[in-house]
Amino acid sequence: MKILVLGGAGYIGSHTVSELVDAGEEVVIADNLETGHIEAVNPKAKFYEGDIRNREFVDSIFDNEKIDAVIHFAANSLVGESMTNPLKYYDNNLYGTKVLLESMVAHGVDKIVFSSTAATYGEPESIPILETDKTEPTNPYGETKLSMEKMMKWTGVAHGLRYVALRYFNACGADKSGEIGEAHSPETHLIPLILQVPNGQRESVSIFGTDYDTKDGTCVRDYIHVTDLAQAHILAVKYLAKGGESDVFNLGNGVGFTVKEVIETARKVTGHPIPAVESPRRGGDPAKLIASSEKAKKILGWKPEHASLEEIIESAWKWHKNHPNGYAK
Ligand code: UDP
Repeated sequence: MKILVLGGAGYIGSHTVSELVDAGEEVVIADNLETGHIEAVNPKAKFYEGDIRNREFVDSIFDNEKIDAVIHFAANSLVGESMTNPLKYYDNNLYGTKVLLESMVAHGVDKIVFSSTAATYGEPESIPILETDKTEPTNPYGETKLSMEKMMKWTGVAHGLRYVALRYFNACGADKSGEIGEAHSPETHLIPLILQVPNGQRESVSIFGTDYDTKDGTCVRDYIHVTDLAQAHILAVKYLAKGGESDVFNLGNGVGFTVKEVIETARKVTGHPIPAVESPRRGGDPAKLIASSEKAKKILGWKPEHASLEEIIESAWKWHKNHPNGYAK
């Protein structure tokens, strides 16, 4: 199959491309390199630099390449930034997806796998979270991702396009090669921030909130290895190729760890004391997010292979230790 990966130079995109290439698929990448990195573009994939909001650019790819399916990662993904700059999220995430879907319909490309998020649920009603639970996002990031899902649904009803939306919980870890990994600027995610301490880039890590209703008062999250997420995208493409119906799947390990437990595991993995400073809550953080991924296991045949938090942090550490400034030299 020839697969177009939009956002293939980003964190989860580059890991998915790597798994697709290893599986022998033909891969075309498009990325505007706003948050993606040219160094993360897999040399075995064909690369188009450009923006999905540019219809001519998107059309040119479908005109030049006989694409069987699209995997769509090209979006902004920071909760905090979406609160202060919501229209950026409406523009890139929603308008960008609208242009993409128009071009797909015009070119008869009818399969898309899409990176959605646990942020579509908002404050959960119960744990673990099921795909049938209510979706009431508490920030524009989650809101735009949910709207992207709905845009695909209604485009499917009208034009026969089929989609799989994968609602990730906390993506983390890095490829076993140590050559690609997480590199955001500014960094806001817990595990890379923790690892900046043993890397000598910060004195301590902040714990955002110690008064949540959890076992040690800190937030609980379901941390899922990026390579396991990547595998789910491949299974989702195969599912659509076999005629599977449009659907939504959670992707997580079904196990939650507190912020303190993550820091403690990083201390073990790195052998560094990693001082932590108890700080006020960060706005918009739900106390607990844990996925039920039973549906993905049953219907897609997905199984996380790198579920241990220690293995996840070891793989992240291998990347960050050797790339303290991400892809920058
Ligand atoms: N967190 C923290 N200190 C940090 C960054 C994050 O305590 O410096 C907490 C955050 O409040 C959340 C968890 O770590 O409970 C995971 O945050 P992250 O930003 O990695 O992912 P999110 O859950 O927002 O998708």
